Amino acid sequence: MRLVMKCGHAIEIDPDKTIVLTCPIDGERIVARVDAPPPRIVGVASGPHMQTRQLPAIAVDATQTHPETGDPVGPLTLKKVTPNG
Ligand SMILES: [Zn+2]
Repeated sequence: MRLVMKCGHAIEIDPDKTIVLTCPIDGERIVARVDAPPPRIVGVASGPHMQTRQLPAIAVDATQTHPETGDPVGPLTLKKVTPNG
């Protein structure tokens, strides 16, 4: 990501690693402009910057039950259903 500081100097940063933003030349800390690529969102979304991609399936075992109560205890939180609702 490219930042243009108030002093006019441009610096390249990794937004995941850079914590304190300062101009390495004169120590300016005010950012005048950010040149960032559009965000990439994975999942269900819509809009001009969205990229549609098929995600891999996730295996889920919903057959595990509690040994005493018989309630489902798998990775999904399931609601017990009674015949009358
Ligand atoms: Zn500067």
